[in-house]
Amino acid sequence: MNRFLRLLLPAFCAIVFAAPCFAGAHPACGPDAVGVARVIPINGGQGLALGLQSYPRTLDLHDHEVVLTFDDGPAGPTPLVLDALARECVRATFFLVGHNAEALPDLVRREIAEGHSVGSHSYSHPASTLRLMNDATARADIERGIAAVETAGYGHAGISPHTPFFRFPGFADTPALLSFLAGRGITVFGSDLWASDWRKMTPEAELDLVMSRLEKLGKGIILFHDSKLATAQMLPAFLRQLKTRGYRVVHMTPGAGPTPVTAAPPGWTSTTEAIIAKTLGGDAMSGEAPGGR
Ligand SMILES: [Zn+2]
Repeated sequence: MNRFLRLLLPAFCAIVFAAPCFAGAHPACGPDAVGVARVIPINGGQGLALGLQSYPRTLDLHDHEVVLTFDDGPAGPTPLVLDALARECVRATFFLVGHNAEALPDLVRREIAEGHSVGSHSYSHPASTLRLMNDATARADIERGIAAVETAGYGHAGISPHTPFFRFPGFADTPALLSFLAGRGITVFGSDLWASDWRKMTPEAELDLVMSRLEKLGKGIILFHDSKLATAQMLPAFLRQLKTRGYRVVHMTPGAGPTPVTAAPPGWTSTTEAIIAKTLGGDAMSGEAPGGR
């Protein structure tokens, strides 16, 4: 689908059918499937950085609405993740590592073909994070990552990515890089809650952990890693639990907006900054906002 249609389709479907619609929807999607409750346009022109674990604002979701996001792929478990999402007719957002996209372009194209939003997560996912690079080197890594995702997904890379979404590896942003991305029309995503799936745990333990966090918060942008086998194994049960507990999945797509945003409650503090400081030490505090994250 070309970019123009990608931008217009959610609005067209909302007006004509009073419901979201997607090209390539799973033919088996019935009323028991989780599905997508609504589509939220993300307007890159607003210069947003969203997700309460890093930023004092997030997507304005209703109670019991969730956005599913997956980092660090494409990787070995990614097809299992895509299979689970397709069975439940759910759309998610993937933040790809550029060198993984180069290695597994068929999976990038599958993500796009199945209606997911595909953003980027740097080219090299440096262990020391982009924050500890000099600004020019960090920008070059971001640009190379975007180009790698575009080339893998669409066969070429233009100036603007098809899906101008970015997540910092380890959430380790800097004010200069945030300004750079805002100027490029790219929205930055943190998360509202995560599954802590960088820790080794069983799929059952991961399911319990993420559901308990979700029940506490009631909604939010959830961070998983499609590079983790336990996450891929957990996902079918997680999606069923969403359904049985009355949660609805919201899909984010690039759009002209306006993007609905809500401010953090009074007394907000960053969760990720404390973790970055602990992980990277004093050097990390020269910037703003975790290792395999
Ligand atoms: Zn990551």
